[in-house]
Amino acid sequence: MAAIRLRCRRCGEPFTDANVYSDAGWLETGISGLCEVCFDTLADYGLSEPTEGLQIGGNGNEAGNQGEKK
Ligand SMILES: [Zn+2]
Repeated sequence: MAAIRLRCRRCGEPFTDANVYSDAGWLETGISGLCEVCFDTLADYGLSEPTEGLQIGGNGNEAGNQGEKK
């Protein structure tokens, strides 16, 4: 397993309850390395490669099953 990131790879903020506010969001920090704020922002814009060719949606099947879409 990859090491758990302590900071968002996009905004650089440490993961806290302020920017990760759901169980799915915490899962996403380990999957994509993004805080939930950034993840939601990118999802809203439909971007699939925020950084380093990261794939949102293609690698988030587990989180997707928990109804993270709003
Ligand atoms: Zn972020």
